[in-house]
Amino acid sequence: MTQQDDRRALVVEDDEDIRSLIEFTLGTQGFDVRATESGLEAVELVRTFDPDLVTLDLGLPGIDGIETCRRIRELSDVYVVMITARDDEIDRLLGLETGADDFLSKPFSVRELKARVNALFRRPRRGVGVGAGPAPTAPVPDHEVLEHGPLRVDVDGRRAFRGAEELSLTRTEFDLLTELMRTPARVWTREALLRSVWGTEWASDTHLVEVHIGNLRRKLGDPSEKPGFIRTVRGVGYRMESLEA
Ligand code: CA
Repeated sequence: MTQQDDRRALVVEDDEDIRSLIEFTLGTQGFDVRATESGLEAVELVRTFDPDLVTLDLGLPGIDGIETCRRIRELSDVYVVMITARDDEIDRLLGLETGADDFLSKPFSVRELKARVNALFRRPRRGVGVGAGPAPTAPVPDHEVLEHGPLRVDVDGRRAFRGAEELSLTRTEFDLLTELMRTPARVWTREALLRSVWGTEWASDTHLVEVHIGNLRRKLGDPSEKPGFIRTVRGVGYRMESLEA
């Protein structure tokens, strides 16, 4: 089984033309594609079909994209790209902490969709699903393991721990934490994190980085008072808090 032929995508879209376009596009990229116009059915398909990627329309009949995403997140760390009808909806959505990994507004071109999916799948493959794996065990020796105080990241197994507790991170949160912990002394600009985690074709703005860092901090139990795990370097970006400070 190669990386190319076991990728699954779920398209959630009630507009038939757009649904067909996305289905076709992802099909040409080698995905096994399922589609639905229902948020409730989408949640069920995440459970049974176990996709690697979900494109999720915001405006759906029945439960909307926000509620659908919230329910998907209770089950899975699948990569979710939320698709909005208007560009200016994205700012509002970023403030709502929907759990989506990124946003794309209509109209988008096939080329743009393909570029984003390619960027995404250059990231490491998903390891064990959120909370679905076996009990934490010692990492096998050839795994890259990063440590920072009580934080431990098993890069290849795609699992993160604070002390003995396994953290339920989304793929994006995991990738951000890995980048920061690999180079603990580096100050990352938002632009550099965007390029490194989302990929160079990703056109999203740096506000996306702030939102995901905020979610990541909450899951790490990062105290709002210093010292936390991730330090904001005013006017620049982020770095890991030095442990000896
Ligand atoms: Ca719609």
